[in-house]
Amino acid sequence: MLVVMNQGATGAQVDDVVKKLEHLKFKVNRVDGVIHTVLAGVGPADNLDPADFEAMGGVKECHLIVSPYKLAARAFRPEGTVITVGKVAIGGTEVIAMGGPCSVENKDQIERAAGIVADAGGKVLRGGAFKPRSSPYSFQGMGEEGLQIMRAAADKYGLMVISEVMDSSQIPLMVQYVDILQIGARNMQNFNLLKDLGRIAKPVLLKRGIAATIEEVLLSAEYVMAGGNQEVILCERGIRTFETFTRNTMDISAIPVLKSLSHLPVVADPSHGVGKRSLVLPMALASVAAGADGVLVEVHHDPDRAASDGAQTLKPEQFQDMMAKMKLVASAVGRSL
Ligand code: PEP
Ligand code: MN
Repeated sequence: MLVVMNQGATGAQVDDVVKKLEHLKFKVNRVDGVIHTVLAGVGPADNLDPADFEAMGGVKECHLIVSPYKLAARAFRPEGTVITVGKVAIGGTEVIAMGGPCSVENKDQIERAAGIVADAGGKVLRGGAFKPRSSPYSFQGMGEEGLQIMRAAADKYGLMVISEVMDSSQIPLMVQYVDILQIGARNMQNFNLLKDLGRIAKPVLLKRGIAATIEEVLLSAEYVMAGGNQEVILCERGIRTFETFTRNTMDISAIPVLKSLSHLPVVADPSHGVGKRSLVLPMALASVAAGADGVLVEVHHDPDRAASDGAQTLKPEQFQDMMAKMKLVASAVGRSL
């Protein structure tokens, strides 16, 4: 149930609607927009008539939201959500570039990555300190030391930090060092992790699972939001199909679909989407053209020696070239970079 209040509705009128929703056993989420206050009631939808709310003082309109996700639905915040991380606004007119290696390997590597990202106009440094590897014998990440290295390098270059949280037990540590917590594709439906991330006051970037439908992605976002954390960034990172030429199939169409179904910012990860560095540039450009609010890519000073995902990791000059070309595409679609 979504109740949009009139411009200038009084506090008492808003309170009346909240009370009525609560009486009907709805959990009420309130958004005070620039013009309208919107009340989203999440709860039982049986036998409700929007007209009962529309008759109340100060109410502009009321809709029953039939989609299985509610807080993530575009109708909840039609103007779209901008998530602010330090000085970086994700979901506004600027397309945000996030870059860095797949894994944090050592201090020198991360300092170089931060320099490459910042010099080319990127705003967020990525790097995994806890790595979800398909094989238990592959490099598993540097843990806390890796987070410390990321934080120091990002601060030196004026960048924000994004890193993956694999397990709820890591959350208290991660929030000390990281600005955005990444939920990996393999964890998209780890509902306990999603619930625990719903209780923190930092943005999360939710990657689409390798076999997840768009509705499932939005339901996972809903888990985080229902816990109270409204700052969710969605990420298309490719899905598994019958095609084997690319590591995954980068679903560019998911970008405008997610943007239309949800108010949440959408970021594209073409590195994991294709798995080959030569294909990252065209997919990054296509993502921006399709309306992505940001691009998350892997870049390393010497990707052929990277500890993980080297084949899909850009060389520094490729990252610079991608940034220059993304700027052109961004301006063609009314955005900046
Ligand atoms: C990563 O970002 O390095 C990563 C492991 O991503 P994904 O969860 O999309 O596979
Ligand atoms: Mn990777």
